[in-house]
Amino acid sequence: MDTIYALASGQGKAGVAVLRLSGPDAHQACLALAGRLPPLRQMSLATLRDRRGETLDQALVVLFPDRQSFTGEPVTELHLHGSPAVVSAVMREIAEQGLARLAEPGEFTRRALENGRLDLTEVEGLADLIQAETEAQRKQALKVMSGALGQKVGHWRESLVHAMALIAASIDFADEELPAEIVAAAKRILEDILRALEAEIDGISAAERIRDGFLVAILGRPNAGKSTLLNALAGREAAITSDIAGTTRDVIEVRMDISGLPVTLLDTAGLRDGGDEIERIGIERALFRAGDADLRLILVDERGMPPGVVAQESDLLLHAKSDDGKDPDGISGKTGQGINRLLERLAERLVAQASQAGSASNDRHRIAMSRAKTAMESALLELQHGEDRTEFLSEHLRQAAHCLDELIGKVDVEDMLDDIFRNFCLGK
Ligand code: GDP
Ligand code: MG
Repeated sequence: MDTIYALASGQGKAGVAVLRLSGPDAHQACLALAGRLPPLRQMSLATLRDRRGETLDQALVVLFPDRQSFTGEPVTELHLHGSPAVVSAVMREIAEQGLARLAEPGEFTRRALENGRLDLTEVEGLADLIQAETEAQRKQALKVMSGALGQKVGHWRESLVHAMALIAASIDFADEELPAEIVAAAKRILEDILRALEAEIDGISAAERIRDGFLVAILGRPNAGKSTLLNALAGREAAITSDIAGTTRDVIEVRMDISGLPVTLLDTAGLRDGGDEIERIGIERALFRAGDADLRLILVDERGMPPGVVAQESDLLLHAKSDDGKDPDGISGKTGQGINRLLERLAERLVAQASQAGSASNDRHRIAMSRAKTAMESALLELQHGEDRTEFLSEHLRQAAHCLDELIGKVDVEDMLDDIFRNFCLGK
């Protein structure tokens, strides 16, 4: 392992910029720049100089020993004055003296994973945390990053190993059928894990919404006031409004934060039969995108439900152009009547959906857990299969354990690492 360095804080001018070095020579590099080695894990002030003795910056310096650092290697953090000139002068000095090489995106975290400081789900949580823009995203990412999923998987794995041990022990004693009490005990254990796995799998789509955003579509007939409503909710003129029917043809998207949840609001072409070809394509798109929506806001006016829409339980039906605010289900993008109430109702619905989220949060988790689930279901079938099928049974259980190991990155991860770290920023 060589020693790497990168700017851990953001680019540009700021009060402080944090430059991080990690690897066997990280502390040597500090010695070269600061002329001394400050005590471990304590911030101290140091003057950083280049080879000719010229001052580069006054910095706060902190050294972490291996096993007590983010990466698990010796780490030096230089808290520089946050000017691009200072940062590049110090980086140039590090490079020219050959003290370290520039890190790849995500390389610090990759080392943390390789040194067992983080499991794979924690790495994913960290990536989500860095990307988090809303409160709900921050909380969810923190939950994953702090190892909630890893701990659950650890418990499941322990129980699984226990079931495997029960079965293995009885094979040693008798080469006939498994004793009934062993079968019953193993069955109970497997069913418990299965239930927990299923609950986690069920929560993934809510977790994905928290990370990637809920989709809310506004539907209605032409001129019902959809674009005006979108603008009122977004607080800006995102869509063109006019009394000419068929003004909106493409799907217009606005990103919003509702009660800490990321929401993509869709304005769509008015739904009607007829219109020119472009409008018809717009209507098709509107219905297509609304098909994926977590929630539909349907504007209903005196012309009734828009054509092609069958009301669902999850829809919010709103009476369009209720300018005076007397109608409790009314909305008016023009006067703003009902907007706050609508935002409250939206928040209530989305928060309820979001609360289904567990600790698993992405497709990789879904795939690994589904495979573990399938293997355990097969094991349960073998258990019920009266004859001596213990070889198959054990194989399915081993398979299930393997899937759980994959989930936390203990085995078979090389292929997916590049994919996961590609999305990391430089310096993390
Ligand atoms: P869309 O075709 O559904 O997107 O409708 P627009 O938002 O473009 O609005 C169509 C026309 O209705 C425009 O002239 C708007 O000014 C008007 N309008 C939209 N919302 C309201 C409302 O809440 N009250 C009233 N009185 N007029 C509205
Ligand atoms: Mg419109």
